[in-house]
Amino acid sequence: MSYQKILNTIEQDLSYKDVYGEVASYIPELAKIDPKKFGMFLYCVNKGKFEFGDSREKFSIQSISKVFTLSLAMKLLGEDLWERVHVEPSGDPFNSLTQLEYENGIPRNPFINSGALVIADILVSNLKDPKADLLELVRKISGNPNIDYDTTVATSEKSTGYRNYALVYYMKALGNIKNDVETIVDFYFHQCSLSMSCEDLAKAFMIFANQGKMLETGEKILTPKKVKRINSLMQTCGFYDEAGEFSFEVGLPGKSGVGGGIVAIHPEQYSVAVWSPILNKKGNSELGMAALEKLTTMTGLSIF
Ligand code: GLU
Repeated sequence: MSYQKILNTIEQDLSYKDVYGEVASYIPELAKIDPKKFGMFLYCVNKGKFEFGDSREKFSIQSISKVFTLSLAMKLLGEDLWERVHVEPSGDPFNSLTQLEYENGIPRNPFINSGALVIADILVSNLKDPKADLLELVRKISGNPNIDYDTTVATSEKSTGYRNYALVYYMKALGNIKNDVETIVDFYFHQCSLSMSCEDLAKAFMIFANQGKMLETGEKILTPKKVKRINSLMQTCGFYDEAGEFSFEVGLPGKSGVGGGIVAIHPEQYSVAVWSPILNKKGNSELGMAALEKLTTMTGLSIF
């Protein structure tokens, strides 16, 4: 079956009516999203592009942004980065504070909130204008100069982001945050507010499927070694306390966000992004996970 036929089947077989989760509401602005939205974009290394539904509509990428900030931090700090954040799955919810106490304020990995906040601290320490540098990277690798922060979403998250404040203050008390708390959370809420479509995300994540190079221009963004490490972190830590389940069902490295987006890659084959805002209890898109399970089963292309 052709890739477009497989995507059409996925669209026909899956419906928001068959899932029972809810749109994220702890960020007030995200509660307004239409739960019926559903789109998917598949971008192949041979340059084939396939899509359905709301694949070109922008949404809040939230935690998916953690892959972009990790990429920037790895370029800046190299191996020293791993003294500030570890690389083990947490098995705890994305916003958990518990492990920090007995691990001296060193987060388990860069994809839980504590880890991403340490990465934010590192970017604030090392870049004059981290918001501008992040935007430049994301616009470049997605090939879309119109990508931007959604400041309404950033402000909305700031108004209720008590746990993220708590994480930063706690890690500062334990010595793993160097900068002013407000500056770090402001950067973090902005990175989470990046507004991108499935098309933008699939194109941006192509560097992780293509050994760190942009597909269209061949420009090197990351070394193959860094890409190997980022992909392995996506595989083991990309879905919070559901990383095992995603690996079991889908079998690809990937990253989710509470805006309902999921991006996944198959090295040397494709990158794929899917969006449906209804989340399961662990904060991952229910239809998104089901769609990717169907994709890897029907194409036979998971990494396992
Ligand atoms: N901005 C969200 C938070 O910090 C990101 C969470 C997510 O997408 O998983 O709660």
